[in-house]
Amino acid sequence: MFKTTIAGSLPKPAWLAETGKLWPAWRVQGAELEHAKRDATLLWLKEQEDAGVDIVSDGEQSRQHFVHGFLEFVEGIDFEHKVKMGIRNNRYDAMVPVVVGPLRLRSRVHEVEAKLARAHTKKKLKITMPGPMTIVDTIADRHYGDKVKLAMAFADLLNQEARALEKDGVDVIQFDEPAFNVYMDDVKRWGIDALHRASAGLKCTTCVHICYGYGIKANLDWKKTLGESWRQYEEIFPALAKSRINQVSLECIHSKVPVELLRLLKGKDVLLGVIDVASENVETPQEVCEVIGKALKYVPAKHLFPCTNCGMAPMDREIARWKLEALAAGAALARKRYGSTGKRTGKKRGR
Ligand code: ZN
Repeated sequence: MFKTTIAGSLPKPAWLAETGKLWPAWRVQGAELEHAKRDATLLWLKEQEDAGVDIVSDGEQSRQHFVHGFLEFVEGIDFEHKVKMGIRNNRYDAMVPVVVGPLRLRSRVHEVEAKLARAHTKKKLKITMPGPMTIVDTIADRHYGDKVKLAMAFADLLNQEARALEKDGVDVIQFDEPAFNVYMDDVKRWGIDALHRASAGLKCTTCVHICYGYGIKANLDWKKTLGESWRQYEEIFPALAKSRINQVSLECIHSKVPVELLRLLKGKDVLLGVIDVASENVETPQEVCEVIGKALKYVPAKHLFPCTNCGMAPMDREIARWKLEALAAGAALARKRYGSTGKRTGKKRGR
């Protein structure tokens, strides 16, 4: 009950990459970089285990950015001549690569870190990849000429890697779709279809992460324009509840998402954001426990997984570590407070 997990990314140590950045430059190159990525992955596995996180991830230590980390392995993309593009409906500008030909995977994408993590932890392991809609929103296109066609082409590549990750022993494959909170009509028209294509044939647990973005200024400014009640989830959750995706990872603590919207995810596992990644204040276990308690009115305990609101990549490393501890301690407290001990157990025994 209340198994904890994280949205995905964790801060990179200063010896691996620049700190506090979404697109950090690597500190070293070549073979030294491969060793450094490996060391950082092992370090964060250990930190997650020590904190008491139940379903661990590689912390995305081997990729520079959650979208481009995948794109770097795809043929048909020009990384040399990036163009400036407004992304997430022009919320902010990013320098993005350009699709210039048919897309094909050059090689495996996350094999090294997935196999490494699998060999070094007995915990359930999650690997994340960008979702098709979010990829399409983070790249320019000069070849396919059609957003949906391009998304489906990426979905096929994601599926190829996802099936291989499953064979590597990965337990949960998560697709990150922050764009789902921006293009709600497209989610219903083709976004979920693209996710189904990306996850086709998988027997492991599948998850989609939908948040209001990392704690960067552009996102914080955007959130200020969303009013007192954030209802984006209301538009997409009913369709997601009908989808074949098993889990939905969402933002909750310190957000203006009405918690009753969680009832729209009937039958799904809810990865409840109980850790704020946009604030350096470390949550107390009581705070975490209270958010779990509120969600429990709308989500059965067996479907509730305390999680972070989003990735922690741009955060301070020490603060991220403390937040992992708060996550696990808060879930432990919730197990005590809301667990089926006491009265209910007594009643059963009485019969
Ligand atoms: Zn996120």
